[in-house]
Amino acid sequence: MRPSFLPRLVNSELYDPIVYVRILNEKKSLMFDCGRIEGLAAREILCLDAIFISHTHMDHFIGIDQVLRIILHRDKPMHIYGPEGITAKMLAKLHAYTWNLTQDYPLDIIIHEVQARTTLVTRTSAATGFEVISQETLEREGPAVVQAPRYRVDAVILDHHIACLGFVLKEIFHVNIRRDMIKRRGYIPGRWIGRLKECILSGDAGEIIEVDAAAGTRQVRVCELADDLVIMTSGQKIAFFTDIGFCEENVRLMESIAGEVDILFIETYYLDDMQDQASLKGHLTARQAGMIARRLGAKRVFPMHVSPRYHDRVSEIWRQMELDEP
Ligand SMILES: [Zn+2]
Ligand SMILES: [Zn+2]
Repeated sequence: MRPSFLPRLVNSELYDPIVYVRILNEKKSLMFDCGRIEGLAAREILCLDAIFISHTHMDHFIGIDQVLRIILHRDKPMHIYGPEGITAKMLAKLHAYTWNLTQDYPLDIIIHEVQARTTLVTRTSAATGFEVISQETLEREGPAVVQAPRYRVDAVILDHHIACLGFVLKEIFHVNIRRDMIKRRGYIPGRWIGRLKECILSGDAGEIIEVDAAAGTRQVRVCELADDLVIMTSGQKIAFFTDIGFCEENVRLMESIAGEVDILFIETYYLDDMQDQASLKGHLTARQAGMIARRLGAKRVFPMHVSPRYHDRVSEIWRQMELDEP
């Protein structure tokens, strides 16, 4: 299966945990947590549609100012999702600056404060100096906080001695192209395949697209191509869990959204001899993170947010998780 989402751990295992996800065939990206973002190019930040903040400890939130600096002239809105208190924290960041010259700027920032049963949605805009334009409370039905045509993002509220969100990005279904049939029909792979995927994902079965073929261009309806060339399978699942204490309730909540996850990014702040400290600070040890990964049935696992005290002992982290270091 050719993946549709390309996740990248921006800062390696050490330092602030950030996962940047490119959604292929769309000029769109998502990001999980926003600590130090020096590892991201401005063009990557400009593609961001939404940033998901687990909690507002500094190492997960300090990069927001730099993101804002880069997207300030953009007309696409930015969505910020976060736990209880994110609205006040985000507005405090925005209101720390002077905005007397931004009346013509089209940027809107929409803050989604995720609570157990509701989401508080607050819209602000550069044009008004990021004053609150509107605010509404939406009921939450199930774990989803985002429902897009191609994907959804689920969130659970985990315990880090404060509310800390854990996230799973799920591709709704995956469009697999049968290369054997493309060859058999005499078609030539090209941009039209991306267009075909787009039409299938947006439900435009009646659309006609121009297909490159050995005998010249052919016009074919999407539903015909889909029957002939496409196999649908369940999509990719990517989980981001950081800054959580090791307790049954946290594990149960993670399991509720991340069973059989394809790629798991999980915090491993301490080695196992610091278990007491981990519990005191609401963090995981490498052994505990490994146990969670096995309980979730994770297919690939990446440790992150390893304490800098282990900068020369990262191999031990992998060993205690019982994973092979790549
Ligand atoms: Zn924290
Ligand atoms: Zn942290």
